[in-house]
Order: sequence, then structure tokens, then C-alpha cells
Amino acid sequence: MLRRSGETDRKATLFTPGSQRKSRLRRKANDEEIGLVTTPSDVVEKTPSASVSRPKKVVRRKTSNPTRSNESILSMTFAILTLVCCFASIMTVMLFLLMHIETPDLQMKDLLYQGEHSLKGVLQRKEKQLVDATQSLLGHSPGLQRDIHSGHAVQTIRKDESNVIDMRELNYQLPFSNEDGGVWKQGWDVQPVLVDAEHPLTVYVIPHSHCDPGWLKTFDQYFQSQTKSIITTVVDALAKDKRRKFIWAEISYFAWWWEEQNESTRQLVKRLLNEGQLEFVTGGWVQPDEANSELYAMEIQLQEGHTWIRENIGEEAIPKYAWSIDPFGYSSSAAWLWQKYGFRAMLIQRVHYAIKKELARKKHLEFYWRQTWDEHGEHDIFTHVMPFFSYDIPHTCGPDPSVCCQFDFKRGRGQCPWRKDPIRVTTENVAERAMLLWDQYKKKAALYRSNTVLVPLGDDFRYQTAKEAESQYENYQIIFDYLNKNVPGAHVQFGTLSDYFKDVMGTFDTPLLKGSFFTYADVNEDYWSGYFTSRAFDKALDRQLERVLYAAESMGGSSHELRGPRRELALFQHHDGVTGTAKTKVVEDYARRMFGAINETHEWMLAFIKKSQTTSVSRFGETLKPCISASEARDLSINHCSGEVLLYNPLESPQRCADTTIAGRSFALGFIPCEIPGNVAGSNTVIEFDPKTGLMTAPFKEQWMLWKVKSGGAYLFVPGTQIPYDMKNITVEKEGFVINTEKWKRFIVEKEVPSEYGTNAIVIDFVYEVSVDIDNEEWFVRFGADIQNNGYFHTDLNGFNFDTHRFRSDMPIQSQVFPMPTLASIDDDNMRLTIISTHAQGTASLEDGTIDVWLDRRLRQDDNRGLGQGVQDNRLTRTRFRVILESGGHDHAAEFDVSPLVRRMWDELQHPLEMFGQVTS
Ligand SMILES: [Zn+2]
Repeated sequence: MLRRSGETDRKATLFTPGSQRKSRLRRKANDEEIGLVTTPSDVVEKTPSASVSRPKKVVRRKTSNPTRSNESILSMTFAILTLVCCFASIMTVMLFLLMHIETPDLQMKDLLYQGEHSLKGVLQRKEKQLVDATQSLLGHSPGLQRDIHSGHAVQTIRKDESNVIDMRELNYQLPFSNEDGGVWKQGWDVQPVLVDAEHPLTVYVIPHSHCDPGWLKTFDQYFQSQTKSIITTVVDALAKDKRRKFIWAEISYFAWWWEEQNESTRQLVKRLLNEGQLEFVTGGWVQPDEANSELYAMEIQLQEGHTWIRENIGEEAIPKYAWSIDPFGYSSSAAWLWQKYGFRAMLIQRVHYAIKKELARKKHLEFYWRQTWDEHGEHDIFTHVMPFFSYDIPHTCGPDPSVCCQFDFKRGRGQCPWRKDPIRVTTENVAERAMLLWDQYKKKAALYRSNTVLVPLGDDFRYQTAKEAESQYENYQIIFDYLNKNVPGAHVQFGTLSDYFKDVMGTFDTPLLKGSFFTYADVNEDYWSGYFTSRAFDKALDRQLERVLYAAESMGGSSHELRGPRRELALFQHHDGVTGTAKTKVVEDYARRMFGAINETHEWMLAFIKKSQTTSVSRFGETLKPCISASEARDLSINHCSGEVLLYNPLESPQRCADTTIAGRSFALGFIPCEIPGNVAGSNTVIEFDPKTGLMTAPFKEQWMLWKVKSGGAYLFVPGTQIPYDMKNITVEKEGFVINTEKWKRFIVEKEVPSEYGTNAIVIDFVYEVSVDIDNEEWFVRFGADIQNNGYFHTDLNGFNFDTHRFRSDMPIQSQVFPMPTLASIDDDNMRLTIISTHAQGTASLEDGTIDVWLDRRLRQDDNRGLGQGVQDNRLTRTRFRVILESGGHDHAAEFDVSPLVRRMWDELQHPLEMFGQVTS
């Protein structure tokens, strides 16, 4: 029998996710229990970067006493839900997790590289939180302590543990109706809050500029033509007036700008940062996509940004508040990551409009985001959801965009779609202008529980010229001065993200929220489920870079040595990079960068191998080359080695190539091919195929399908007609293990199930190569098995967390397509079907017993989200699925987790052997 998930959960409690992402501890425990022997095989020549497990100090943060909210407006639904959740969490002893790969050593090394003080910093921060929380438990009145640096009240934690919003339930139950709300189209007629001397209202207007590191222009083009002058403009504008503030997110741009500045400008910037006029938010290399990215890459982009800040500005400038206004949906993995890096709060914006409305209705737009597996809330992070349609100025001052747009002073005549132009603020009109804006602030305040309002002031690539910057800063300052002088209780000023969060956190009982925010819709039935698959080739290239980088780091490469490749991987995590939502020339630029990064990492590996002076390597001499490579950035990589090769296993567990077993983190000589299509030698698995088409019929069913669509583009999937792929001119070889058609090929390899995992599982790899060259077709594979999953469908989040969806026949199909960064699974009481993929794509379970996984999509038309083109630059793309059919299902009332076998198979698929051979012409 396979281990049921409950058993893995118990073992999983050995692992503290807060300390490490990938559980060496847990893995070892698993391995020991299943009797895995990891003695080095005799082919091992050398174990690079001997792993030394360092003891981890885990400081548990105490949470304050949960208090009941007097003003609780809990609906019955949520009360019941909460009870169910609490009950479930007590009954199921579980920490949940995780399939991420980074080892404690690597993590520790990276932290150490960034300076010993930074490691201590993390621990001290946690200790400080402990002290703060303890003091509030003891009854020290919150808010009286002052933060010595900021002068703000130390944030206290007021969680309402009785109020838990579970996104999985909400997604299943919400009507998703789309009534016209009036001026706030997706909301309702909001009434302003009362403000007077006894009921003051603080407003922070937060100037920002959203600078995509690649979208319509390449990263370089944007920097040269826009971003460079934006940062210069902002620094000048801030220097003019101490009351002005600005926040900056993308360190990729900032680092480049910094290189070009003289010492006096750098000193000025440091002063602005130090005095809180300028503030980094998140401070990642980019603002990463959260649907297609793996946690490993999300963390690298954060490390690259923070390392740059640490080395060039100083530890104190590293952000504590995260800002994510444009990624197309949000994952709990990101919340976990920010919390792990010491963030105190975060802000998100692209959440389904109906979810926003529901959260706003209950004043739940601010919550502690809790991991589904976290029993004690150790990883909670305070989260703010922006309420309206967009992050631009018309949709951030309050519910009425026709009013807010009048206060975007960059816009000239006719540039507000609501036909009311901005008017310059003067002493003559200030009273009328200020009160008009004030009304919007008071209405926005009605959606939140605190008496502080956050008002972003910016848009894409804003503050490009001094004229533009001055028009915003000057007009707003006149309004602020008027309001502060003439309206009792008004405190309006420019602010930063930390100004806002420091004011609101701890001032009200805050609900908890579990789950994630996919699939995003901005209007009507426009669901952003196309980008889960768009530019599949580049999504695959992203993982290729990730794999080789991971392997190099596991050999001992430091983040310093691998800085270049790490930054290219980081750049592509941008929400128009790995999402596949950039212009063709930008996609090609990203690909060139990643291709260069792969080559650079391979060069580092070869240098490392040559330095190692072992006999196996010296036999290859100077001609050693990586076996898997491509001739061009967007060409499929091929294997150009044959016969004897040098193999490197980046994992800690052994991996095999044909008859050779390579111990973890070791080199060995072996012979390729490592695998050939067909059954494992001596296998009892009966694999059957349709004799005509070659498609698999047993042990599970394989169908080649496509969506014929009439609309949709890089972002949106809009279903049309679903039809089987026309299998003309097919060649079926090896009974069906190999199928070749002109544009769609695949071969099948049965994988050996290591004996320690029992005999009740079948593992089969499907390797597809598709070349979609017909417009408005979306190609996918449907896998089917005799499983009654009752609409329950599980996917992963960033190769780290899991999400559970329930099919709704009353909802459009495009709303039920989800990101599959690495995994999709269905199960019933008896059986489970799990698909693991080498890269990200969309997935759905539209009929019981089936999982659809996209291979690629090609769209003729634009989908009106600003890109201005379709997706027609498809390349021949290879996708490998590892399909695992296991006996022993899962109770849908319990949290989903995967079996130890799936975990092992996942590791091996994501981190296969690196091969090096002697190149022969
Ligand atoms: Zn963006």
C-alpha cells in the first residue's frame, strides 16, 4: 500500500517551513523510514560541495491573544466555515508541503554570502517580534511604544482567529454576479465616512511609477527611453521639498540607474531613503509573476534585489513592506516568501472584481494571509487588497473614476475617458477641488476598518519629466494644505507604504484568509487564464535556466559567482516575462538573455569540473561540453553526446541513467541514452494503445485535443469549440510508444518506481513536441482515469504550496483553468492521478476523471490589455509530463498533499542529471 497523505503529514511536522523551504530534515526522515540507502556507489568519483547541515535556530513568533471583534459582521457562512477550518486543522495533524528544492546548505550559504550580520538580522527581527507580542500579551497598551527609528507606533498584532476567510470555499460559493454598481461599476454606491475632530481620517497619497522591466519595449529600451529619466526626475523632485514622498519597486532598473550616478547624487539618494522620503517597496529585482514562477526563482529575484540594496545602500534600506500591483493573480507562496524575508505587510491589487466586492462588503480587504497548513499562524502576513479596478489614478482615489481622473495632473484635455478634464488647482478653486477629492477619500475609507486611507498616485512609467512631477506634487500639496487647515479631522499628506502600514496595523481586529487568488478576471467574463500557457517555449526555457542554475549552486557555486545568470532568471520572473505577455521582440530579448545565462552557467560548471582534477574529468580533457544545448535562443535544445558521458546529480537522492546509479550531489561516468521509449525492463505494467492512432488507452487514457477559438490573446483564454486533434499522416512506432505527426510528436517511457515506494503505482513519462502553426488554436492533452473526483481538482502554487478547486457548472470554462507551475492532480477514495510537468502551463479538470494540460496556444488577435498584438511567435516546444497513477486516494475534507513517491518523482523531473561529454563532430 502506498502511504496515505496523513502519514506523510505527521512526518512533515519535523519540518518547519519557516526555517527552510526544502526540507532536508523531512526528506531524511522519509528516506530513513522507507529504507532508502544512500551509500555512495562505486562509480562516484567526487562529492562536490560537501553538505554540512548546520543547526537552524527557529524562533517561534508568539501571536497575541485572539480577541473577538465587537463590530463583527460575520455572516453565517463564514462562521460555519471557520468552525470547519478549526476542526479540520485540529483533526488533521499537519504541516503541509512542499516540493521545493533548495537545500538548507544553499540557503545558509546565500544568507552568509550576503553578510553574517544579515543572518543575525533575521533572527533578531524575529526575537523583536517575540518581545513585542509578549508585551502586548502582558497588557502593555499597544500603540504607546514608539519605534526608535520611525517614531511610529510599534505594530501590534490583532488577529481575529474566529474570522477565517477560505478562498477555496469562497470561490466555490460566491455567485460571481456582475451587477452595475453605478460610478463604481463593480461595487456599489459607497457612502462617505463621518470625519470630524473626534473622528479623524488620515490619508497617505503614495506617489509611484510602475516600470515594467520589459513589456512593449525591452528592458534596455525602457531604461534608456523612460526609466532612467523617471528616477532622475523623482530624486530631483524629492530634493525640492521634504514633504514629498515616493516609493520604488524594481531594483533591476534602480541598480542600473545607480551605476550611472556620481557620488553626490548617490549621497542625496541615501539621504532621501534614510529620511523616509524615498522608500523601496518589496525591493525585488522585478515584481514577479505568481502563477507560472517557481518559488526558487521568486526567491532568487528577491535575493538579487535585496543583495543589491544591502551592498549599495545598506541593510536599513531593505524593505519591510511588499508592493505587488500588477501581477495577474496572487499566490500564498509569495505571501509565505515575503514573510520569510521579514516583511511585515504586503499589498496586492489584481484580484477578481467579484472577490474584491465581497471582501469590501465585509471590510475584509485587509487580513492576515495564513498558509493553509500553518496551524499557529507563524507565517501570517498582514495584507491589503486595493479595492477598485486598477492601480492608475482614476481608480485609486475613491470609487468614482470620473472624479479621480480629474486629479491626474499629467492628463491633458480629453485624456480622461469620463470626459471631465483635470483642472489646475489654484487659490480660487482649491476649496471646490479639495472637497471633491476629500469626498472620494471618505468613501474609500468606508471600505476599510481603520481610519487611515491608502491612495496610490501613479501609473505605468509616470514621473518622466520635471514638469509632470511638479504638476502632481504641487497641485496635491495645495489640496492637502487646504484640507488640513479647513477640515476638522483631516490629516492628508504624501506618504510611503510603510507610513500607511505602520499606522493601520494593530488598530483593529483583523480577519485571517487562507488560499490564493486565481483565476483573475478584471471585467465580465474576461478571465486571465491564457497567460498560464502563452509563450510555452519561453516558459520551458525559464525552467531550463533554473535547472542548470540549481545544479551549479548545488556544486558549490555562490550567488556572487553566478550573479549574471541569477539576474537573468530574476528578470524573466517579471509579470510580463514568464507570463508570455510581452511583444515579440521583447520575448526574443528575454530568450537571448536566458540562453546566454544558461551558457554562462555551463561555463562555470565546466571550469569547476576542470578544476576538480579528477581522473574521470581529465580523461575528457579540454573538449568537455554540456550535452544538452541549443544552437539559438529560441531553438529546441538537443543532445549532441553519445556513448560515455560525465553525469552530475544535483539532487541529494540518487538518480539513474540506464544502469548507472549516481549518488546525490555526485559525478559519475555513464552511458547514454539514459532512457528509451517503452516499458521498464522486467515491468509488469500493461500499457495499451489504440492501434490506429497510437494513443494510450491503458493504464490511463490519453487524448490529443484542441480548442478552436475566435478570441482571446496573450492574457485571456476564451473558449470556442473543443475538438480532437486531427491525426493525419501519423506514424505509430513501437506499438504506440512513439507517435510522429508533422506538428505533434510524442514518446512514452515507463519510469521505474524505486522499490521502497511499494508496487501500487505506475509512473509514465510523456514527452511531447508540438509546433502550433495555425492561428486561434490551443492544443492540449487530456489524461483520463477511472476516478470520481466529484469536481475536486488540485494544482500546485509555485512548486511549493497546493491549491484546491471545485468545478462549477454555473461558471464559465475560462474561469476554471488554473496555473500549473509544476503539478495537477485528481483523486477519489481509491485512486489518484497526478501529472507533473517540466514547466508552467494552464490546466483544468472539466469532466470527472480527467485532467487537461495545455501544450501551447496561438492567437491571431490582441485581447485589449495593452499588448497590441496576438501570440504568433510560437516555436517548436518540448514538454515532459510525468504521469503517476497511485492507489490510495485522499479524503477531500483534508488538506491535499502528495505522496513521498510523487515528491521523489517531482525532484527528479525538475532536477535531472546534468550531462557532459566530449564533443565529436
Ligand atoms: Zn506591469
